Amino acid sequence: MTIAIRSRYDHWLGGKLESPSTEEYLPSLSPEDRSQVTEIARGSKEDVDKAVQHACAARDEWRERKPIQRGRIPTAIGNAVRAAKDELGAIESAESGKPAFQPPLEIEFAAQYFEFYAGLVNLYQGEVIDLGPGFHTYTRREPYGVIGIITPWNVPLNQAARGIAPALAAGNVAVCKPSEFTSAATVELAAIAKDCGLPDGVLNVVLGTGPEVGAALVEHPDVRKVAFTGSVRAGREVGAIAAERILPVTLELGGKSANLVFDDADLTQAVPGSLRAFITNAGQICSAGTRLLVQRSIVEPFAAALQEAAGQVQPGTHFGPLTTPDQYDKVCDYFQVAEREGLELLAGGKPIANDQGSYLVPVTIYKLEDESSRLANEEIFGPVVVIIPFDDEDDAIRIANGTNYGLAAGLWTRDVSRAHRVAAKLEAGQVYVNDWGNPAVEAPFGGYKGSGLGREKGIEALHHYTQLKCVAMKL
Ligand code: NAD
Repeated sequence: MTIAIRSRYDHWLGGKLESPSTEEYLPSLSPEDRSQVTEIARGSKEDVDKAVQHACAARDEWRERKPIQRGRIPTAIGNAVRAAKDELGAIESAESGKPAFQPPLEIEFAAQYFEFYAGLVNLYQGEVIDLGPGFHTYTRREPYGVIGIITPWNVPLNQAARGIAPALAAGNVAVCKPSEFTSAATVELAAIAKDCGLPDGVLNVVLGTGPEVGAALVEHPDVRKVAFTGSVRAGREVGAIAAERILPVTLELGGKSANLVFDDADLTQAVPGSLRAFITNAGQICSAGTRLLVQRSIVEPFAAALQEAAGQVQPGTHFGPLTTPDQYDKVCDYFQVAEREGLELLAGGKPIANDQGSYLVPVTIYKLEDESSRLANEEIFGPVVVIIPFDDEDDAIRIANGTNYGLAAGLWTRDVSRAHRVAAKLEAGQVYVNDWGNPAVEAPFGGYKGSGLGREKGIEALHHYTQLKCVAMKL
């Protein structure tokens, strides 16, 4: 099967493409030059109802399959996604503006999600609780039924797979709502899954905007759990509906992650690692290391080295334009905020002028006196970092923990004791030591504080895609 971007994307319902009840489509525009790449169905509540009906119809047969049989299909999907990663990658590049080298790397991990959870399905089990003679008490982990999976535009297929793979492996059925800016690859994934033998209705994709389709999915009474990835703003809206319904939700939200460089760090690693931490995917990564805390005694040489390394980066080659017009405006607004606040600028700081209408922005580095600036506290979601000096370990931890976010944190040091001591005190769902980022599908991921609820990835995610039943029997 050859996979290439289609001129139009309809919903994927019950194993086939289906046009929207509104008969309306939304253009999907290239972030490179704003030309139309494709168009996507503008879904409605009615389409969400249809998607959930298909999912409900497929639910019982799928959950009752023996795990070893059910697991064979995600295994096949993982292999097929890996085989198609260049084609799927080209689709993602067209919609998101990512340079061609990047999506296949991300899609490799999408394939691994399917492989990992397909294997785990045979291992995942409850326990027997010993209450003494005369009783047999045990737990079962059962699927919820219909899971709503809502994803953002920054790493589209990878994030779709992060939810779909554990949900289906655990015996659930799913209705996905990808971002309206990057919907194509998720529909292609559903078509691939059908070719791999996934029964119709087990995986449905409904397209459209957050308020029109995303909210309707969270509100739907037959949806029993929602896995949401996106902004704090939308996460709050999803959480409010969920609170009303007493609906289990996983919220994977934004971040403003602190990256701590101590004066004993190996700067040959810490400088390029800290650069990679905030420029990967043009900084459009929830766990980007955008608050760069550097020990005062080395802040000048470190900043000079980072500035030099940033000078080697070519926007447009090493990373692409920002993906959405709103995101571009937001990053440009922060350049103006920085100017008004009089921040010291070491690199970038203004949009890259071009005739194509590209949303390309430069690597941007500010050096601050303290952490009071808005740029030190708000998620920007672009290749923008602030360097903030700290005096000692306590000061570093105080500044690092001083935001309402808590997604990731990192530290660079040669002192192993310090690494463990500081890692334990950082309020973040994941801590990286002498590196930044951990794409491994086996490792759990999620936020502390305002960065979210619950965990994705790893065995831990299966706890969030199943509900626990305790059976107590008197013998
Ligand atoms: P967004 O919140 O605008 O949109 C995310 C998804 O939610 C989209 O599919 C959107 O259509 C939908 N949506 C929007 N409003 C909704 C509503 N009221 N009800 C239901 N669904 C709604 O986020 P975005 O701009 O697409 O993505 C960027 C954000 O995502 C950043 O804040 C980033 O940090 C975060 N993010 C988090 C993770 C993580 O794993 N923690 C991963 C990637 C991105």
